[in-house]
This record gives sequence, structure tokens and C-alpha cells, in this order.
Amino acid sequence: MIKLEHISKSYYDKKNPSKTVNALKDISITFPKQGFISILGPSGCGKTTLLNILGGLDTRYEGNLIVNDVNTKTFRGNDWDSYRNSHVGFVFQEYNLIPHQNVSQNVELAPTIAGASKIEAKENSKKMLEYMDLQDKITQKTNTLSGGQKQRVAIARALVNNPEMILADEPTSALDTKTSQQVMEILKEISKNKLVIMVTHNIDLAKKYSSKIVNILDGKIQSVEDLENEEEKKKEEFLEKMPQNYKYGKSKMKFKTALNLSFKSLMTRKRRTFLTTIAGSIGIICLSVILGIYNGASDFAKDMSNKALTNRPIRISSRRNYSSEEYRQYKKQKKEYEKEYRKLEKEARTSTKISNPEKKQEKLNEELKRMAAKKNKNYFNNLSSEYQQFILNMQDQNPDAIRAIAINRNPNAIFVAKKDGKYFNMGDNFAEMPYVKDISKYYDLVGNKGKWPQAKDEVVVTLDSANNLNRNVLAALGLDKRDDIDVEEVIGKTLATFVPLDNAYKKVEDSYHFVSPEELKSLCENGVENGVKLKIVGVVKEKGKEENGLVKELSRFYMKTPILSEAVIYSRELGDYIYQNNQNSQLCKLQNSVDYSILTGPGEKAKTSDDIMNFYQNFYSGSGGKTKEEFLMDLGVSKSASRIYIYLDNVEKYKEDIFKMLNGYNENKADKDQIQIPELSDMESMVLTLQSICFALLLTIGLASLLTSLIMISLLTFISVLERTKEIGVLRSIGARKKDISRLFKSETLIIGFFTGIFGVAVGQGLSVIINNWLANKAEVSKLNLVKIDIKVWLGLLAFSLLTTVLAGVIPAKIASRKDPVKILTGTNN
Ligand code: ADP
Ligand code: MG
Repeated sequence: MIKLEHISKSYYDKKNPSKTVNALKDISITFPKQGFISILGPSGCGKTTLLNILGGLDTRYEGNLIVNDVNTKTFRGNDWDSYRNSHVGFVFQEYNLIPHQNVSQNVELAPTIAGASKIEAKENSKKMLEYMDLQDKITQKTNTLSGGQKQRVAIARALVNNPEMILADEPTSALDTKTSQQVMEILKEISKNKLVIMVTHNIDLAKKYSSKIVNILDGKIQSVEDLENEEEKKKEEFLEKMPQNYKYGKSKMKFKTALNLSFKSLMTRKRRTFLTTIAGSIGIICLSVILGIYNGASDFAKDMSNKALTNRPIRISSRRNYSSEEYRQYKKQKKEYEKEYRKLEKEARTSTKISNPEKKQEKLNEELKRMAAKKNKNYFNNLSSEYQQFILNMQDQNPDAIRAIAINRNPNAIFVAKKDGKYFNMGDNFAEMPYVKDISKYYDLVGNKGKWPQAKDEVVVTLDSANNLNRNVLAALGLDKRDDIDVEEVIGKTLATFVPLDNAYKKVEDSYHFVSPEELKSLCENGVENGVKLKIVGVVKEKGKEENGLVKELSRFYMKTPILSEAVIYSRELGDYIYQNNQNSQLCKLQNSVDYSILTGPGEKAKTSDDIMNFYQNFYSGSGGKTKEEFLMDLGVSKSASRIYIYLDNVEKYKEDIFKMLNGYNENKADKDQIQIPELSDMESMVLTLQSICFALLLTIGLASLLTSLIMISLLTFISVLERTKEIGVLRSIGARKKDISRLFKSETLIIGFFTGIFGVAVGQGLSVIINNWLANKAEVSKLNLVKIDIKVWLGLLAFSLLTTVLAGVIPAKIASRKDPVKILTGTNN
């Protein structure tokens, strides 16, 4: 039983308060449990308003609506939704069917929202449609039906949840007389065990079918007429056929239903959906390519840095370097130092006091000193013969990981050659043959006569990739004016003379000076005791194909240091001989006994390790002078090496192991005995830094385009909300909650997001192929995977796309769910 007590309703016009409409004025009426009630009255008298209040569509009014002895004042949002879904069935003048759903789906919606299963909903809908004599229209689109058929579908939908009352707002006013009568017959039948309240201004119809007529005028009940209708007793059988369907529970739209509705709705707007997808996918396309680049470039950079590690040896020098961490700290410190200094300067501008620069400097240096205290105390790596042996053993034990070791132990040995008729020391162009496992793997002997140096007097000369020979070598051979020289012309030629230290230096006052060119000439031409004339026994050239294009450009990032880095390579035999010779030399004996360099004289004393440390701590630039050990090293007599190069092989596989082993040497050793090696990360980082800068830039572009896409999706969803307004109203009238409406639009954007994601990444994938091919072409390589969109990117971006589009849908969905169903259904929405 449903009862209205003192119901009043006014519509306020916010812009024009004087135009307030009192649509209903103190309406009190009790409706019976069943029967056909007509509400009759002229247009604008408040009929629809009354019906909306009865149906729970409009809940803003004064007075009480009592349903089955429960005052609806106690209803909460979801109670209203359930009430609309299962107590009430609405039939509207304009049918309000959802156009993108077929006949059965329109009817199914109500039980689905009520929580019925798909099968159940289908079954109930089918029964109801059969009852409405529409069994042959079940799968038809609603816009192909006639008005009467549409209204019967609407009635089926109103009845399908077996409500207690049917509210019909002028259900026949759009129909012709005959069809109107059919509809009235149906409503009449229904009224035999349900309450049917119909709003009309057709007095004839009301009189013919109603059991009661409520006359309304100007928002007030004028009169209530009871009518005995003979028709009422007829056609009892018809009533018995009426299916007793689902009884109500809490109304709720399943997510699947929302998805389904939205998908259908999107499919009716294919062109727009497609455009939305494209608009939305721009951001995803950008991001997929950018992530692809990041992915591919990481691998590429790894590749490059491995290549760099292959081509550039690990360089262990007798002087320690600052680690990158120390360098960063230093830079930070320096910045603060400068800031502090500026502050002091600023203060001085306004101060009248005289300040002491010494004190100021002291103050500023304090921090640096504190920092320096934390550093390694020792500035030298003692590349002793023990350490050299350690490195050589390492190579023996890891032949696959280390392809060559060069121990540079004699940088200043003197090799005299002739150039333009003058004799000069070309020692800088000479290097000892490094320890290489199998040099023929990396170098070719050019021509068919050459060999590698073995004996004391044998050297090879190296060609670069363009077959150029070092200029000094060419000059020394007297070939510097010629072109097209045969290898045979070079092999067997005498190149230079090794001159022992004692012969190359002459004492002048306190220091030793290099002998004059004339003396060099006589040393070479007349022969020198213990000297060695060196002849070329081979011409060698590094193996490997020349790199082109991009790869070549990029290889400039790392300086290639070939295994044979100098123009002339002499045998280890000669190396040992030179070492022996130097050790026995007068010069070295003398150097051992004094603490200044005998080459420059007693003016400048040898520095200690600490001196050099302090120098670096304060200025961090330039050379800090040399120690006595270094003087000896310069002369080539120290047991220590000045530099050790380790050339790696199979870098990817072994690099970490090798660095671990090198670091292992330092374990449990005092700082002065430790050997500082470069950090792997530093050697690898150069390409990666460049790449991460580019990536940050690209990512910004990607995110900007994504934002644009988001806004577009948001707008298009908003338009969709405007278009689907009617649907929102209908769904609310059959009990869908606000939440369901919002879910409806979220699911719409979810679908768009799915399309967008798939489409975006697919296009990105396509672009990646194009970009890769183009770059490969530019780089003159057969394959280049610089843009690499893998499954991670696919899934990640799909998820991202779903998330972002749903985010874009949040606001339009909120707007949709807030729409007032009454306003929508009565057409007063905006
Ligand atoms: P009926 O259905 O009998 O034609 P209504 O109930 O639709 O009448 O309207 C009753 C009165 O309330 C009318 O004067 C109408 O103009 C006014 N009215 C209806 N809906 C609104 C609204 N949303 N805002 C302002 N006035 C309204
Ligand atoms: Mg009306």
C-alpha cells in the first residue's frame, strides 16, 4: 500500500526567485494495493511531478511518502535505487528505450541491475516479451519497432522485476487510438493484481479503463471518482498467464553489464570511437617508442660500453686517480668553498675592518683538509714485479677473459734514428711487445715475408686501418718522400739504434743533459758500446673490419687503444736487455743516491707522496711533481712498471669477474700496498649518461603528448555523457545507482583505454621497425635494434593506458552520475 501525506513540491528558479512554481500543494491520498488509477488534469497541473515522487525519482519535497507502512524519509540512496528497481515499474510517454540495445537486452537490464544472473534475466525477459506478444521481436533493434511495440517493450521492462506498481506517464499520447487501446488493455490486465497509476489528460481513456480517477488542478486534488468498470471482471485467464518473475533484492549493476552496455554504445558510434582511440593513442605511441628507445638504447649502450671495454684496456697507472666519488665530493666541496668566499667578499664590502687573507684562507681550507683526511694516504700504486706477476698469472688462469697484457716498464729508453739527415731520439714511438696470448688472433703480418720480433735486434712496425705508417718511421727509413711503398722494401731495413743511458747523457755541472745531435750522429754511425741496431722484421696491422656510419661515429665516444699502441714494437728480449742495462748504468746508480732528479739538477727536490697529496687536495689540477721513485721510473730502472694495460675479451661474460679479481688483490693489504684500479661503473658510464639525458628529454615529450591525449579522451567521454543522458535517466528509473552510472562511463573509458593501448603500442611497434630500419641504413649495418618494444613495454603501456583513460573518465563519469534523473526524463535537463 502506498500513501501520500501532505505532499508539497515547489520548483525554485535560482535566477528568478519570484518565478517559483508550486507544482504540488498539500497532496494527501492513499492508493489501494491494486487497481487502475488515472491521474487526470490539464498540462502543467503537476501530474508528472506527482508520479516522479511516487516512483522515487524525485525525493525533494515536503510531506511523507509511506510505502508498505514504511516512511520513505528513512530511505537512504540505495534504498531508493532498490525501490525503483523492484517496487516500481516506469512506463514513459516517449518509451525511453536504450537504442543501442536490442528488445530483449532492454528488458533484461532491469533484472540484471536487480542482481539476476544472465540466464535468469534472459529467461524473465523472454517470458515477459512473450506475454507482451513480442516473442518474434526479441533480437530486433528497438528503433525498428512501431510506437505500440516500443511501448509494449517498455511495459515488459516495467513488469519484468514483478514490481508492486506500474507508473505510466501519458503512455498513449504518442500512439494512435487503436494502439492506445491495446496498451490500455494491457495496463488494465496488469492492474488486476498490481497497482497501475497512469497519468493522462485523455478523459475518455481514463473513464473507460480506470477503477479510480484522481482529478488534479493547479497542484491540488480536486476530486477522486470511483468507477465500477465492467471490463474489470473479464479476461481472468489472461491474468493467470502473467509470469511471476524475480522478486527484489538490493539493486546493483554488475561491472560486466556496465562493460557490455558501454561496448554496445561505443559500437553504435564506431567512427567516434575510432577517432577517440586515435586521439588517445598518440600519447601511448610516443611513450611506446620512447620506452622502446630506452629499452633498445640501454642494450645498445651496454653493447657500446662492452665494445669500449674491449677496445680500451683497463689502465692501471703508477699514479692513483681520484675515484669518481671522490671527485664528486671534491666538486661539491669546491662549490661550497666558492660560495663561502663570495659571502666573505660581500661582508667585506660593508665592513671597515681590515682582514687577514692568510687567516681567511686557513678558515676556508679547513673543510678541504678534513675531507682530505678521509682520502687514501698514498698517492702511488706500487706496480711492483710481484704485482706484475699477479697480473700475468691472472691472464694465465683466464685466457678467455684477458687477451693481452702490456706492462709498460721502460718509457724512456733511447732509440736514435735519422730524420732529414739529423739524428734524434724517437723513443716515444717505441713500445715493448705486450704479453699477448695469441697475437695472430688480433694482428696480421702484412705481406708474406714478415715475422714477429723475437731477437734483441728485431722490431715490427704497425700500420693503421688506412695502412699509414708512422711519419718518423718513414723518415728514418728515408721513405718519407715516397708513396706506394712495398712491404718488402721495409722489411730487413735498419730503423734505429738503441743507445744505453750512460752514452745518451752527459754530465754538465750538477745535472745530466741529453747529448747533442752531433754526438748522437757519431754514436750511431761509429757504433756504440752495448748499443743495438734495430731492424724491421715485419709490418703488422690490426685485424677486424672497418666500422662505418653511426657505429663509427659512436665509437668516437671511446678512444680505441689498440694492443700495439706505438708505431714500433720491440721484442721482450730487448726489453729485458734494456732493463739490465739501465740497472747497471752510472746514471741510475747516481739517481739512487740523490733526492733530486739528476736530469734537472738539484734545484727541485723529489716530492714525497704526502707533498703530492697536499698539492692535489688544494688545487686538484696539474702535476704535483715527481717522487724519487718516479725519477727512477723515468730512467727505466725501477722494478715497478709505470703503466699496466689489461685488454679484456668476452667482456660481457667476464668483466665483473676480472674487476673482482683485480680488487681481490687489495684485500687485507695496507693502503700503500694496494693498487687502485679504475671503477667498472666509470668505464661503462660514459655512454649511459648521454643516453639518460636524451631519455629524460624524450620522456617529457611523451608525457606531454599523453596529457594531451588524456584531455581529449576526457572531452570525448564528456560528449558521450551528454549523448547518453537519456540512457542515464532510464537506468536510474529502473534502479541503477549513481555508482552504476559512474561505472558505466568508467567502463566506457576502460574500453577506450584498452583500444588505445593496443592500438598505440601496435603503431609504436610499427614505427620501431621503421626507425630501426632507417637507422640501420644510416649506420650502414645490417640490423640495429635501437628501438626495442618488448612484452614488458606492451603490458606496461596497456595497463598504463587503461589507468590513464579511466582517470580521464573520472570527471565525466562523476558528472554523469550526478545528473538528476527527473530532469533528464522530463526533458528539463538544462
Ligand atoms: P504535468 O505533468 O501535469 O504537465 P508537471 O508536473 O510536469 O505538470 O509540472 C508542474 C509544474 O511544475 C509546471 O508548471 C511546470 O512548469 C513546473 N515544473 C516541472 N518541472 C520543473 C522543473 N524541473 N523546474 C521548474 N519547474 C518545473
Ligand atoms: Mg507531464
